[in-house]
Amino acid sequence: LGRHKDDNRQNGFTYNGVEFNQSNLNIFAGLCAVDVPEHVEQMMQALEQHGEVCTRMGAYKPRTNPYSFQGHGKGCLPWVFEKAGKHGIKVVAMEITHESHIEEIDTCLEKLGRPTGVMLQIGTRNTQNFELLKAIGRQSTYPALLKRGFGITLNESLNAAEYLASEGNANVIFCLRGMKTEAGQPHRNMVDFAHVPTVKRLTRMPVCIDPSHSVGSRDRAPDGILEVMHATAQGVVAGANMVLVDFHPKPEKALVDGPQALLMNELPAYLEDIRLCHDTW
Ligand code: PEP
Repeated sequence: LGRHKDDNRQNGFTYNGVEFNQSNLNIFAGLCAVDVPEHVEQMMQALEQHGEVCTRMGAYKPRTNPYSFQGHGKGCLPWVFEKAGKHGIKVVAMEITHESHIEEIDTCLEKLGRPTGVMLQIGTRNTQNFELLKAIGRQSTYPALLKRGFGITLNESLNAAEYLASEGNANVIFCLRGMKTEAGQPHRNMVDFAHVPTVKRLTRMPVCIDPSHSVGSRDRAPDGILEVMHATAQGVVAGANMVLVDFHPKPEKALVDGPQALLMNELPAYLEDIRLCHDTW
């Protein structure tokens, strides 16, 4: 995945009709964690209304606290994928935490006649889970979205991406999601989107940003603009090719990360502003 002086290999790939490269922009707005069918339906309906064909949906949640909601797991896959297909969603970014989840996803999609596609997300807690990386690298059906490790160097995270490619899967997107700081304040993580152009210089990977897990709140800046929007704009102006962002129809009822989810009535302006940033910069 590294970029070398004499390397003119093409960057990017097409998956399920959606192109991912170092020039364009794909927005994955969706639920941090799948909860009830009604919320998934509302989210996907809104995306369809705005012409979006990608979403994020968490079924397997890696939680810091073992007593927190761990995600519905494979039980929710059939109705999540069916709803995605019904609303024209072509790619669902879904984190997996164990290699057995690849087969669970694949079996379910196959049974349903593949109504949608899945991008396998590796979360920041698993960036250096080398056996998981190798398992995802060994299959070529699904592209991978690798989150930067929140407490390791950039170079170590880029090496982790090579584990995917070295096993055969070069359809990899690298995601910046903020770094841990001492107190986790004022943002949940230190926004690291200045590294977007750096990763694009060092590698051929399209670069994603996750403003929701970086900022971690729905706070507004003194200018009235959501801080998540400010962070997104910074990342997109810096050249981001993908945005992973949390929305929820009822954040107060969300089972994971409700405080950082944007509201459904904020979706149209959010999408319009990001597209404008990307197209005019
Ligand atoms: C997520 O995107 O749902 C998530 C848990 O992100 P991260 O791995 O960056 O914490």
